[in-house]
Amino acid sequence: AKDQGKSTYCLFTQEMNNDMIEKTLLEMDLRQAISRNEMELHYQPQYDMKTGRMTGVEALARWNHSKKGLISPGQFIPIAEESGIILPIGLWILETACKQAKQWQEQGFPNIRMSVNVSIRQFKQPAFINNVLKVLQKTGLDPCYLNIEITESMTTDVDYSQKILQQLHNEGIHVSIDDFGTGYSSLSYLSKFPITHLKIDQVFLQDLSSSNTAIIKTIIDLAKNLSIDVIAEGVETDEQALFLSTLRCDEVQGFLYSRPLPKHEIEKLLQTVPV
Ligand code: C2E
Ligand code: CA
Ligand code: CA
Ligand code: CA
Repeated sequence: AKDQGKSTYCLFTQEMNNDMIEKTLLEMDLRQAISRNEMELHYQPQYDMKTGRMTGVEALARWNHSKKGLISPGQFIPIAEESGIILPIGLWILETACKQAKQWQEQGFPNIRMSVNVSIRQFKQPAFINNVLKVLQKTGLDPCYLNIEITESMTTDVDYSQKILQQLHNEGIHVSIDDFGTGYSSLSYLSKFPITHLKIDQVFLQDLSSSNTAIIKTIIDLAKNLSIDVIAEGVETDEQALFLSTLRCDEVQGFLYSRPLPKHEIEKLLQTVPV
């Protein structure tokens, strides 16, 4: 029994070491991902529930590793966060997304909003606002077409967040609170922050139990009272869509309408959908 315990222990630490080695290797590759052209953005359309109009897209990062193939952002974003590589990658994401939005406008497609996820390290970076403004200047995108997605958990420092969000607002940049309802933060900040959209987290939609439907109703009511638009994400079924439309949810995003798509697929869509 003693031996067994010991070997289990050894195996466990061996596994931990392998995990750490794996992570370190991935981190090294991640540093090169942009210069090696392995990073790409896909775009997931968002639609107005009432009119069916395509209102915007959310940029979602994709890493095509030379040997491992596609690595999901759920895997590499946390590593990028922890190591700080998120700062150059995040800036690249922001610039690529803004450049793309501007390009679509110049190609004559109807104007749509470009939503970009920003991580906490970027948001807390002293140069954050400056970086955003520089990207807008460089790409020539009108600030009103940029939407920055932040999560509730980034806003625990209310004074700091209020200051940054106010600056973005003053520049005409839109801000969404992503994954709303999962951050356990106080609701009182909502009235203090100049935000334009709340995104209801998809966990509430996945199972339309009575408690989840109550939560979704409450979020939509709250947002309406504060004149904030609501986007439901992760919409996969007609049942979910019907439920959201009876509650007058403003916008939807999810596999029911479209998966995140590479740029040329979005261009095809923009030619066919009412905008
Ligand atoms: P998120 O910001 O909440 O993005 C929504 C995620 O839900 C995306 O996963 C999207 O592909 C997925 N999704 C969309 N519709 C549906 C649906 O109908 N059903 C289901 N089951 N899923 C749906 P993805 O692209 O794997 O991204 C995962 C997370 O990684 C994102 O969650 C975000 O937190 C992070 N992420 C992705 N791209 C970026 C980025 O450019 N920058 C930063 N900082 N984070 C990013
Ligand atoms: Ca998001
Ligand atoms: Ca989300
Ligand atoms: Ca999420």
